[in-house]
Amino acid sequence: MRWNLDRFYPQAVADREWRQDKERAISFVVQGEFEQAEELLSFLWTYAYARYCLNTKDKLWKHRLNEVEEIEEKITVQAEEESDQKVEDAIQRQAEMIQEIYKIRFSGLTVFQASTSPHSEIRREAREYLTQQYAAKKERFAELLIQICHDKFPTDPHYLKARQQMLDALPLLQTYLGELVQASGKTKIHWTDLSFLFESEMNDWDSTYSLEQTRSLMGDLHSFFGETLSHLLVNGCLETSEAPHKLQSGFAMPVAFHHEPLCYLHSVRGKEGALGLLHELSHGLHFWAYRDQEKNYLLPDVSVVEIFPMTIELVALHKWEGRISYLQRILSFTLFQFLKVEFKYQIHEKRVQTLEEIQCIWDDLIEMIFGRHLEFERGTNLSWCGSRLVWQEAEVGQRYICGSVAAWNLSKSILDAGKPVLDRVVQTLMLPPSCDLQAWNESLNIDLLGSLTRSVGNERTIHDHHLLHRTDS
Ligand SMILES: [Zn+2]
Repeated sequence: MRWNLDRFYPQAVADREWRQDKERAISFVVQGEFEQAEELLSFLWTYAYARYCLNTKDKLWKHRLNEVEEIEEKITVQAEEESDQKVEDAIQRQAEMIQEIYKIRFSGLTVFQASTSPHSEIRREAREYLTQQYAAKKERFAELLIQICHDKFPTDPHYLKARQQMLDALPLLQTYLGELVQASGKTKIHWTDLSFLFESEMNDWDSTYSLEQTRSLMGDLHSFFGETLSHLLVNGCLETSEAPHKLQSGFAMPVAFHHEPLCYLHSVRGKEGALGLLHELSHGLHFWAYRDQEKNYLLPDVSVVEIFPMTIELVALHKWEGRISYLQRILSFTLFQFLKVEFKYQIHEKRVQTLEEIQCIWDDLIEMIFGRHLEFERGTNLSWCGSRLVWQEAEVGQRYICGSVAAWNLSKSILDAGKPVLDRVVQTLMLPPSCDLQAWNESLNIDLLGSLTRSVGNERTIHDHHLLHRTDS
């Protein structure tokens, strides 16, 4: 599938027309018409970014991106003053250190690709190698982490509620962990291998088949989903491609002026690719649903924007692969992420000052969350250095947990009740992008951060169900 960018500017004259629109945006700024300026700039940025993604070696659109960002900076000086420069610099430096390590080549791949390889031997070797790389810089990583979790650490009130739900649900989650390990037929499983426990039929899926399955699932769930998806695909909102000069990532963005959103995936292969496709198209569907609302070019907050795609992933896994896959995804959405978010929260709460104390918090948390059922090694495990949620802003991690706890609750309601809940989901997707978690709760009539324990407790045990484990068949 390819994007149809001609609906924004005809390719041949795109640069000229883009520059004319940039001049218009500047004149809006000069006249103090900031809202119009922001809408136009958002559109210009999205178009330039899309062109850059298609060819990251193209200097023209990279330059155009910088031009928009410079104008936007002038409008948002006020917002910048509120953020903390010291924390931002530390996050930036940490990200750069990680990028450098990730780029190192390892058995024909980057070490990052090797560390997520489906082959357990390559994965294990790559991870060991990564740990050595982190260990060489661990003092520096610890120093930056202390700066990031310094006194002005933000704590989202929604997060405190989601955090309590997670802590309450831990005993039940651990029961599931134990059952998953047992059902895998293995005696020892490393805690970082949890997402690779079971073989998946989806590992063979290619982009055509994944898209076919996505369309059929969405149409079965709700006619609004099916019709919207068809509309978006006909209008060229999806780009999937494997060329090496294209951006190696996946995302979805709303496009200003009521246009269809843009969904991008570098490649669609296997289970993760198929779920990525489903995830980004779900974002696209959400953006399209609120196209008639005010400020439709904005992205909702991460505590809200991830709920729908994560929910659809969970529902899809339940329908495509059964309950084990569903459980496994819940554990990877919540337990792994919770570990990383809680890690930073505790570094702040306990006012730690040294690498040893940081390492101790990390080890204690892994032991508390995974220790009873999974293998891990105290003291040597340095994966906290390279974890995205550890080096992102604290707000982002906390809101991610709110989103995943909410997705868990919502997926459970959909699987239990079906249509009436899905009708409310459709209405909720149409709320303006500025709506928060509270507004979503009211619209869905579900306490999205509540009753986690009950929703887990109501599940039947996995032994009652057909296991996907291939050695059984
Ligand atoms: Zn997402």
